[in-house]
Amino acid sequence: MSAPGEIAAESFDVVVVGGGPSGATAAHDLARAGRRVLLLDRAGRIKPCGGAIPPRLMRDFDIPEALLCARATSARMISPKAREVDMPIEGGFVGMVDRDVFDEWLRARAADAGAERRTGRFEQLERDADGAALVAYTSGKGEGALTVRVRAKLVIGADGARSQVARQAIRGGGETKCVFAYHEIIRAPGAGFRGFDGRRCDVFYQGKLSPDFYAWIFPHGETASVGVGSARKGFSLRGAITALRASTGLDHCETIRTEGAPIPLKPLKRWDNGRDVLLAGDAAGVVAPASGEGIYYAMQGGREAARAADVFLATGQPRSLKEARKRFMRAHGKIFLVLGIMQHFWYRSDKRREGFVKMCADPDVQRLTWDAYMNKELVRAEPGAHARIFLKDMGHLLGLSPS
Ligand SMILES: Cc1cc2nc3c(=O)[nH]c(=O)nc-3n(C[C@H](O)[C@H](O)[C@H](O)COP(=O)(O)OP(=O)(O)OC[C@H]3O[C@@H](n4cnc5c(N)ncnc54)[C@H](O)[C@@H]3O)c2cc1C
Repeated sequence: MSAPGEIAAESFDVVVVGGGPSGATAAHDLARAGRRVLLLDRAGRIKPCGGAIPPRLMRDFDIPEALLCARATSARMISPKAREVDMPIEGGFVGMVDRDVFDEWLRARAADAGAERRTGRFEQLERDADGAALVAYTSGKGEGALTVRVRAKLVIGADGARSQVARQAIRGGGETKCVFAYHEIIRAPGAGFRGFDGRRCDVFYQGKLSPDFYAWIFPHGETASVGVGSARKGFSLRGAITALRASTGLDHCETIRTEGAPIPLKPLKRWDNGRDVLLAGDAAGVVAPASGEGIYYAMQGGREAARAADVFLATGQPRSLKEARKRFMRAHGKIFLVLGIMQHFWYRSDKRREGFVKMCADPDVQRLTWDAYMNKELVRAEPGAHARIFLKDMGHLLGLSPS
């Protein structure tokens, strides 16, 4: 029975909570598989994000070039002592997307595939008399706001870091350790401005800008993202960006938006409740350590969630939900481990950061880094290069390399 002012529960195969890259991908894949899907997003806020995506993402998820607002063909790494190391990308690029445009495009594609889109804020996961999941959400604002309840055979929680769905349904959910990231969207300076290049990503490894992560300047066509991350409590991210903009001359550029959000640091141990709830993307904690790259992994997580959901709907077996995490970690667990170790070793002190930037000048390091980033696989083909990097790595760590 629904109370006065409430709408009676409709039924869906899957309710996807959150219409970011992971939720929109899950909803798209499930709708294409012929499932009855509701894609629920609270809307009204552009996701704070640097918007850097690899070519592999564009291939795997059929993203048209037209969605890119810029293509970076090199990165500049800047050390604590202001040493600059340029890393050109041979035959590739880093794509840049504006998240308002990109996310909306993904949601519209999911709707074109047959998912029903609604705007509303997920409030609570409830159960009806026979134990089925009821998703309660608020539709509308102020006096016209309504609580709506929809029934779901499965709920996919793709509502981002510190997910409400995870908090309510998954043991240990919503409690992941996070880096907090903050950026300012500025009007990009014109061509020839020293300290900015519309085809280059600048990455600052300097303790004064971030004691445990890094700061960046990413080109976005007419605009640029100037940002920083840190997990250190009390560290002033705004202060760091003010300093970075002053030191690069970008303090004279118009500020369009300022915004911040947490980035989860570690995949959750459980992504499902063993019954009818499954997490994807930031909600499941899947962002690459060291780089903070999350869009590609969110979309992969959304795809794996849809695959597991499809089997669950066909068989009614809750254990099929576990496959989403298993398959994801089989494909990406190793790279997460390597990046986690890198972050642990290299982001600890300015001395280490200096060594890290120096190491980035090495052609083997550059080739393997770009290959791993663009193709999302650890390169197996060049054992010699791996061995050289390992030896150089150890040399730097032990202070045996000349500076
Ligand atoms: C400052 C910053 C810079 C970053 N830069 C990069 C980068 O350059 N490249 C990269 O790959 N990654 C980057 N990331 C990480 C990346 O943004 C995330 O990993 C990615 O967005 C995760 O996608 P998602 O779909 O899981 O979650 P989100 O993108 O967070 O989407 C969650 C969705 O859920 C909706 N939602 C939340 N709560 C509710 C609710 N209660 N009811 C209904 N809907 C709800 C939100 O509206 C949102 O649309 C950055 C992150 C930050 C914070």
